[in-house]
Amino acid sequence: MPKESYKILLPEKEMPRQWYNIIPDLPRPLSPPYSPQTGQPVTPQELAVLFPMGLLEQEMSEARYIDIPEEVLEIYHLWRPSPLIRARRLEQKLGTPAKIYFKYEGVSPAGSHKLNTAVPQAYYNMKEGIRKISTETGAGQWGSALALACDMFGIDLQVFMVRVSYDQKPYRKFMMQTWGAKVDPSPSPLTNVGRGLLAQNPDNPGSLGIAISEAVEVAAMNADTHYALGSVLNHVCLHQTIIGLETKKQLAMVDDYPDVVIACAGGGSNFAGLGFPFVQDKINGKKVRVVAVEPAACPSLTKGKFIYDFGDEAKMAPIVEMYTLGHGFIPPTIHAGGLRYHGMSPLVSLAKHENLVEAVAVPQTGCFEAAILFSRTEGIIPAPESSHAIRVAIDEAIRAKEEGKAKTIVFNLSGHGHFDLASYDMFLSGKLEDYEYPKELIDQALKDVPRIG
Ligand SMILES: *Cc1c(COP(=O)(O)O)cnc(C)c1O
Repeated sequence: MPKESYKILLPEKEMPRQWYNIIPDLPRPLSPPYSPQTGQPVTPQELAVLFPMGLLEQEMSEARYIDIPEEVLEIYHLWRPSPLIRARRLEQKLGTPAKIYFKYEGVSPAGSHKLNTAVPQAYYNMKEGIRKISTETGAGQWGSALALACDMFGIDLQVFMVRVSYDQKPYRKFMMQTWGAKVDPSPSPLTNVGRGLLAQNPDNPGSLGIAISEAVEVAAMNADTHYALGSVLNHVCLHQTIIGLETKKQLAMVDDYPDVVIACAGGGSNFAGLGFPFVQDKINGKKVRVVAVEPAACPSLTKGKFIYDFGDEAKMAPIVEMYTLGHGFIPPTIHAGGLRYHGMSPLVSLAKHENLVEAVAVPQTGCFEAAILFSRTEGIIPAPESSHAIRVAIDEAIRAKEEGKAKTIVFNLSGHGHFDLASYDMFLSGKLEDYEYPKELIDQALKDVPRIG
């Protein structure tokens, strides 16, 4: 028996039964979303074409805690509570006086935190009699999580997968198909948007923006079909808070509390998931830093502007107030595919704007170095996205060593990297390059934002 514990396991019966909604605790309300079609604030009717009422109520809810439905709790129990692990071997390797803990979301069957929201999203759609959901996926993390969730509730799933990923990264496609989803490369001949683009160029490699447009078109044209999004929206951040709520209970079991809480931020939901329950403590006077980490190649929180912008490239999604690089921003093809969104969740953006959270941007080679060190000490091969959080956790631990100060660091290991080994190959063979998005290009993309208010 090791003298000290590595894994802090919350008993199943201690799993939180409510999600935490940060909206009532923020210093000011979110600015209203606007419709790109009407130029007016979005009406519930417009959204009801795409989402079930159960999720739209959560999107606007002022309740601080929201009950997790029994059917969702039951499925969560397949992998939750997820372990909180003390990274003792990493601490030793770094020679740091800091304590490093990580919350491991890679234990979900889909391999990442995304199943935490896929399950309730499928559930609320099923409750409203929806038979089919359409969605987009880039590298396939969201598509695979939703494929499993839909299968569990008897819903058919149509996934539009960005063409380059469909061709180059087939394994997540096979995963989606194993769980019964229909997967098509986007642009596809199934939609007007797709047919138009294919007529211009049959070899169009696709983009997340195009895939979103196709998925939304299918949902808007079919009364029995809804659309689902894997990050950004308030209800997605809400569902992910189970991560932070469990973490707080687990830290209490070992009588600890973090000085700093760290997570990577793409659309912002896994960061919100770990971070918001700690931001609540901060609002209530506790001293804790909550840090979002983004790629230097896609620096929305650190270099973007807090303004109204379109949620997507095709200008179909609502216009929201957020940190954005401009909807026309073309993200470079970095390996953390899940961190390439031009904007940021409005809730995370507001928390940043109100100085409740911090943000840093890091280059990808430094992240892969951290990922290699982590996999050679803790064993787990992290997703390239998660390695951003590891980089900053290690930097904090090194700083603690230099300052000779003990501190407690907690980060979110949002997923494992078993389907991203081609990126590891690139890094290990020295082919990976850093890219910092030039300020001129950001300024240019920001010229094109809509004028609201
Ligand atoms: C999608 C994904 C992310 C990005 O998540 P957001 O909630 O959009 O910030 C991070 N890590 C992994 C493993 C992912 O699959």
